[in-house]
Amino acid sequence: MTSLPPVFDGHNDVLLRLANDASADPVAGFLKGGGPGHIDMPKARAGGFAGGLFAVFCPSPNEATNFTAPRDMSNTPLPPELPMDLARRLTAHQIAMLLRVEAASDGAFTVCRSVADIRAAMAKGSIAAVLHIEGAEALDEDLYFLDVLYAAGLRSIGPVWSRTNIFGHGVPFRFPHSPDIGPGLTEAGKRLVAACNAKRIMIDLSHITERGFWDVAELSTAPLVATHSNVHALTASPRNLTAEQLKAIRDSDGMVGLNFATGFLRPDGLMRADTEIEVMIRHLDAMIEAVGETRVGIGSDFDGALIPAAIGDASGLPVLFEAMRQHGYDDALLTRIAHGNWLSLLERTIG
Ligand SMILES: [Zn+2]
Repeated sequence: MTSLPPVFDGHNDVLLRLANDASADPVAGFLKGGGPGHIDMPKARAGGFAGGLFAVFCPSPNEATNFTAPRDMSNTPLPPELPMDLARRLTAHQIAMLLRVEAASDGAFTVCRSVADIRAAMAKGSIAAVLHIEGAEALDEDLYFLDVLYAAGLRSIGPVWSRTNIFGHGVPFRFPHSPDIGPGLTEAGKRLVAACNAKRIMIDLSHITERGFWDVAELSTAPLVATHSNVHALTASPRNLTAEQLKAIRDSDGMVGLNFATGFLRPDGLMRADTEIEVMIRHLDAMIEAVGETRVGIGSDFDGALIPAAIGDASGLPVLFEAMRQHGYDDALLTRIAHGNWLSLLERTIG
């Protein structure tokens, strides 16, 4: 096998996994490896996982927290709303996991606040982590906590996860369905978009309703980004992007990251580990056709989804890139998809 380019990934949920890890020292477990998760240091090294957006995700009360197990996606209602005090407690726990991994890593893991930071970390082989929040339930309407999280390193926000909050509305995990399945941004959501633009915090549209997407498209001065969503024409999940949404992403010089969650890849919308890599290539082909070779990357959803067994975890990333090569993608395109496009998109957003 010829060498493959390092991968910068648009989405993972490893921080939630570490916060839920009941072992004595989850941070040491991440660095040492050997556990069941999709991403740890040895798996990252083995698969060429060089960094990515590390999400803080706070599950709703009484919701399942293990999204890597099979579950019925056919008609799931929206999860309940998450109170701000609980969201802040869970957010603090997950950000602490990120900071403690960095502190204990002896330079092998770096929290990055700019593309210069990412490039420097990748150049020395240190995992480059950008702090992201998936669902802004921890934020107050006045956005005071946004300043606090920005100071802690936050550079990317999905205003909503797949539920309702004070900023807007997310899409439920329902199949098949259009993403036009609820209202758009609230007034507070519109203020959040303006504040993110002013602070150069990237706005992620992966879980938002189609109306919310168009509200952001109208208001935001930044490129439109869906960090971990696929193509609705191939898999009719509301988590995937319509042709019109993909066109808007292209026209804004934005970005879309391929989600490995099998329910967002398969034509039948099922979450099944025995999903062929071929369906991932089909989504990539369709994304490239819709938004161009410079606006497609990876948004694995590692540690947050049931992914194809053929990849298994971060150590299996070369399986996907070899499949792209077999399919005829040349080295330049492989490098763009692996990290080049994400780094240039982040230049255009967080700077
Ligand atoms: Zn997600």
